Amino acid sequence: MPTRARNVSGVALRLPERAEVWLFDCGEGTQHQLQRTPLRISQINRIFITHLHGDHIFGLMGLLATCGLAGQGQEIHLYGPDGLEEYVRTCARLSRTTLSETLNIHTTEPGLLHRDDNFSVTCQPLKHRIPSYGYRVTESDRPGKFDVERAQALGIRPGPLFGRLKNGESLELADGSVVHGRDLNGPTVGGRSVVYCTDTMYCESAVALADHSDVLIHEATFAEQDEHLAMQSMHSTTTMAARVASEAQVHQLLLTHFSPRYTKESEITPDELLAQARAIFPRTEMARDLMVYDVPRRDENFG
Ligand SMILES: [Zn+2]
Ligand SMILES: [Zn+2]
Repeated sequence: MPTRARNVSGVALRLPERAEVWLFDCGEGTQHQLQRTPLRISQINRIFITHLHGDHIFGLMGLLATCGLAGQGQEIHLYGPDGLEEYVRTCARLSRTTLSETLNIHTTEPGLLHRDDNFSVTCQPLKHRIPSYGYRVTESDRPGKFDVERAQALGIRPGPLFGRLKNGESLELADGSVVHGRDLNGPTVGGRSVVYCTDTMYCESAVALADHSDVLIHEATFAEQDEHLAMQSMHSTTTMAARVASEAQVHQLLLTHFSPRYTKESEITPDELLAQARAIFPRTEMARDLMVYDVPRRDENFG
């Protein structure tokens, strides 16, 4: 539940090159929180819902109503488990809310959900009291920069041969010498990946989904000592989340979705939650409201 210090689930992934925002979960208050950021609601064109518990969807209707009112014909793709469409359509009908005509609701199934020129989105089922899905956004690798000047110095004119060399082919020139495309192309720029896993207990599918990702956002509702509570409610402890990060060999773990029982004044403090996770996976941070994390390029991290 929301507290004075912390709101419920909602993560925005900003794709600056496309001026798009993809939203993951939309708990109560997400729309208000968005207004405290430089992001614009009109930029949201994909929304991924992990599961139908209220702390992940109670902000959705308000947000969709705003999008419907804006009337800019903003196309929105909404993804989520079976039942999400019924929830949205029923709320809209009973509250006389006009949804945007360009709202497309997709029922999430494991595997590939979306692919375009730059990104793909896959999902896997997690382990929670009701069906819940983790999502992974993977940016495509980009070919390295082609060295035009060097190609021209070798006597190759711009044209179809450039294209073949860019594709990495080897060519024999008129004088019999051989030019290898690989020598003229800079190193491939690795795509980045972000994984969002909540709500769930430790599970193999989370490890598989997060495999070598740059950022894993994973829930850590409970402290290690409260594992019995995690088991009862099918949530993760700090150690479970850190184990997923460690086994998947991710670059950075961001913990979120903490139980409101842990405060600076309580017996187990948020600092202790962080220390528990770091004991297993040192590159861990705790998410806080309005925190911004820049996903660095992989070659800068994994030298
Ligand atoms: Zn839940
Ligand atoms: Zn939850």
